[in-house]
Amino acid sequence: MTRDNASLSTTARVSGTILVTGSSRGIGRAIALRLARDGFDVVLHCRSRIAEAQAVAEEIRGLGRRARVLCFDVTERAQARATLEADIAEHGAYYGVVCNAGITADGAFPALTDEAWDSVIDTSLDGFYNVVKPLVMPMIRRRAPGRIVVMSSVSGLIGNRGQVNYSAAKAGLIGAVKALAVELAKRRITVNCVAPGLIDSDMTADGDFAEARRAIPMQRLGSADEVAGAVSFLCGPDAGYITRQTLAVNGGLC
Ligand code: NDP
Repeated sequence: MTRDNASLSTTARVSGTILVTGSSRGIGRAIALRLARDGFDVVLHCRSRIAEAQAVAEEIRGLGRRARVLCFDVTERAQARATLEADIAEHGAYYGVVCNAGITADGAFPALTDEAWDSVIDTSLDGFYNVVKPLVMPMIRRRAPGRIVVMSSVSGLIGNRGQVNYSAAKAGLIGAVKALAVELAKRRITVNCVAPGLIDSDMTADGDFAEARRAIPMQRLGSADEVAGAVSFLCGPDAGYITRQTLAVNGGLC
């Protein structure tokens, strides 16, 4: 390895603590457990389901990794900032963050309510800003490789009927990630999106996906564990030269 490559390498020293927002259940829970199995300590996060998040933390401790739980609404900027700054002051800067918390509030556009528009945009886009902003300077000051992974969606790539709000939010995240990746590349902090297709979770529990399933080349919904594997790869040592990308996990949907 040349001296240049050695000093730029992002595969060295990839370990530490990763915050996973929205990890009380669903895809976030699977990501937290997978990261722990792959050797990371995990900061779990939820909005209200503290008991569920504590149970995930207990499971992670059983795997021999450290885990703690933070609870705040990602749309509440002051609360998010204060909680994250206090946690970093006590435990040190994180190696990475997975911005996974998200919601849907679907409806045909003419009937979409202001509340449905605002809540989805606020949770995804403000949520990204409110969580990542307080973490970035401490990550830079670590002077070590770092990872930021943001949960987009197939809806942000192709646009789904009845999801103008959600598609806008998830496409916006892809733009934010591309810009931030450029800013942080020299710091050896990679920034990427994962864009799941239809995944079996609470979010999809109520829908009738028979038609959608037929449109998926693999003819089935994905599992949270399959998304978690992709996220853990992007957080791991083999992804040190991958940044500014969107990794689709969608059974060939687009
Ligand atoms: P779930 O509804 O199962 O879980 C959502 C998680 O986000 C929960 O932990 C919830 O916390 C948290 N959350 C929601 N809103 C807030 C908020 N305002 N502040 C803090 N936490 C919040 O969702 P999934 O696991 O299915 O989805 C996870 C991510 O993947 C989302 O970003 C979603 O958009 C994305 N995605 C999902 C797909 C799918 O088919 N399921 C497809 C493509 C993308 P609490 O439990 O406390 O309420």
